[in-house]
Amino acid sequence: MSENCLFCKIIHKEIPSEFLHEDDICVVFRDINPEAPVHLLVVPRKHVRSMNDIQKEDRDIISHLFLVAKHMAKEQGVNESGYKLLFNVEKGGGQMIFHIHLHLIGGWKK
Ligand code: AMP
Ligand code: ZN
Repeated sequence: MSENCLFCKIIHKEIPSEFLHEDDICVVFRDINPEAPVHLLVVPRKHVRSMNDIQKEDRDIISHLFLVAKHMAKEQGVNESGYKLLFNVEKGGGQMIFHIHLHLIGGWKK
C-alpha cells in the first residue's frame, strides 16, 4: 500500500467502490468518467507506479490482468463486438493515476 494513492485506498476499501471482480492479484471496478458504455479498470493489488516500473517478478501479475480483462469483456458482452485494452504510461501517455491499471473500453454502438 502506498500512502496517498487513490487506487490503493479503493483496493483497501478506504474509499467505497463496487468491485465487479476481485481475486488475490487484482480488482476490477468501473471508471468514474467512462469513455464508452463499458469502461472498466483492472487494477493489481500490488502498488506499481507506472508500466516503466514493472520488473521481471511482476510478469505473472501483468499476464493475469490481461486474462481477467478477457474474462470481463465476455461478462460485459463486448467480447465479440470488440474492445480496447490499454495502459497509459506516464504523463505524456495520459497517465493520471500512478498505480498501474489496464483500461477495458468497449460497447460502442454498432
Ligand atoms: P489514467 O489516465 O490511465 O491514469 O486513468 C485513470 C482513470 O481513473 C481515469 O480514466 C479516471 O476517470 C479514473 N478514475 C479516477 N478516479 C476514479 C475513481 N475514484 N473511481 C474510478 N475511476 C476513477
Ligand atoms: Zn497504489
